[in-house]
Amino acid sequence: MPRKVTYVFPRMGYSYAAFESFFQILGYDVITPEPSNSQTLKRGVSNSPEGMCFPFKILLGQFLKVLEENPDKYFKIVSLESYGPCRFGYYSPLYAKILKDRGFDNFEIVNVEGIYPPWYRGIPRFFKKLIKLIGWHTPWTGVKAFLIAGWKVYAIEQLERKLYYLIPREKIVGSAEKAFNRAFERIHHAPNKVKAIKEVLNEELKRMDSVKHVENVELPKVGLVGEAYMLMDYSNNLEIEKKLAYMGVDVDRSLWVTNWTLDRIIKTKEHLNHMLEVNKGYLDFFIGGDGQESIMNTILYKQKGFDGVIQVLPFGCLPETVAKQILSNVSEDYDIPVLSLSFDEQTGEAGFITRIEAFVDMIKDRKAAKVGKKKSTTVASQ
Ligand code: SF4
Repeated sequence: MPRKVTYVFPRMGYSYAAFESFFQILGYDVITPEPSNSQTLKRGVSNSPEGMCFPFKILLGQFLKVLEENPDKYFKIVSLESYGPCRFGYYSPLYAKILKDRGFDNFEIVNVEGIYPPWYRGIPRFFKKLIKLIGWHTPWTGVKAFLIAGWKVYAIEQLERKLYYLIPREKIVGSAEKAFNRAFERIHHAPNKVKAIKEVLNEELKRMDSVKHVENVELPKVGLVGEAYMLMDYSNNLEIEKKLAYMGVDVDRSLWVTNWTLDRIIKTKEHLNHMLEVNKGYLDFFIGGDGQESIMNTILYKQKGFDGVIQVLPFGCLPETVAKQILSNVSEDYDIPVLSLSFDEQTGEAGFITRIEAFVDMIKDRKAAKVGKKKSTTVASQ
């Protein structure tokens, strides 16, 4: 009798709700790792090679916990893979080796990867990996799983965007978050039908709009750039978006599951050309991860009128470390403050809050000084 498989995948922000639906539609059991916490971090760090980057250690800690707690199940651990040049290419073989060395034999690692050129090799390879990942299903079941997961990801992102818009404007502190939590749970457990998800999304967006808040208020704007996994997972970046929003800032994250997938898998060529054009003179070749995006998005934030940018940089991440150096030139050339925050298992909440508070105060002062200067020039020219 074939073994019953349970899927476990990297938890990334609120998108886990969509990935759960994906595997459930395909008929599999799924276990979502819990958000990062001191115990999973400790497990991950103590079992990883010291030189590996922080996201590797976080995920290893989460996988270890799930395997330890479920010795009677057989797992397919979903991992991401790329050909480098950063450490991403080592993730899957290293997970397999470490978990085997720790005595686990109830798992296999299955990879998700993009389509790499040349296309005549990349496309068959992609489908081969996809079949290994999800097994054989009727075409309709496969399409349905992708469609529903896509819609849930989209719906969750709409709700999150609304949340970060409302927090700095709400009249009763905490009311936007309360509305969001309810909305998220409804999307999470919505029936796996597009119509039902759309209906819940529309109802919940309306409900969130009814949270008492002030419109027409101009707030300082901060853009977030950095390594995708850290950026998209609130438990790893210490809820940086929420914290900034509660400090009275309009916060915008440059990478979401939807635009990351669109740029990296579907519109790859346009995305690369756009990036080369924007990054001209700073970084015109791929360094792995999201380093090139961090530079491009900082420049784009300046062009869109943002007041500052924060780079989320996991400890040990080569692409973001390179980007950090280049960002100091971008910051000077484009006159936009950039704060690089490095995250590892030692990052403490108190020090982190102090740093972002100081940054927010600085950009608020800069903004006020600019408005004052503009006013005095207008008065002088009258
Ligand atoms: S981008 Fe950075 S954090 Fe992500 S795998 Fe590469 S080195 Fe590690």
